[in-house]
Amino acid sequence: MGDFLDRAGAAVGDDGRLPLGSMPGWDVFPFEREGLRARALTEYADPEPDRRKARDDCRTCSALEDAAQLLHTGDRLAVVRPAATSLPFVANVVTREHVLIDDLDDDGHVELGRLVARTYAAVQALDGVGNVHITKWENGSGHFSMNVMARPRGVLQLRGSNLPVWADMLPDIPQDEYDERARAVRAALS
Ligand SMILES: [Zn+2]
Repeated sequence: MGDFLDRAGAAVGDDGRLPLGSMPGWDVFPFEREGLRARALTEYADPEPDRRKARDDCRTCSALEDAAQLLHTGDRLAVVRPAATSLPFVANVVTREHVLIDDLDDDGHVELGRLVARTYAAVQALDGVGNVHITKWENGSGHFSMNVMARPRGVLQLRGSNLPVWADMLPDIPQDEYDERARAVRAALS
């Protein structure tokens, strides 16, 4: 870790910030290079805080208990959706309990692979979907979570790893439209 921080420290400018990389040059990058600057490197924790958390005030547990947000229940894993989204559809493949991927056994890995692939297929089959991106960030809910995100068809500027950044800025889709797609995904996963 020391080597990593030494290298990073050697790369920052006089203002303590890393120079911008190549991404601001991508045509899918949401921001213009002019006026853009990196945050100063500050966070460092060793040991890191435990990512396993208790159920108190857990949004994923709430989603699992909400019939409108729950799309499928498996043995160890389930599929839920956020209450609202700006994208055509978002589904999250999550552990039903506060269990990370580190804790799943081989049967859990098999269930995970099948459920991610089936969720991908169900979301990709929705009207108006151009592509479906899958990520694993999992920075703090206590559940293992993979995000399955639909990009609107034809809107190529949103493709790739910046999709969640665009999604954060775009307005939510109408709730009835979202609910109708949820019914189709729920049926496909049943
Ligand atoms: Zn929870």
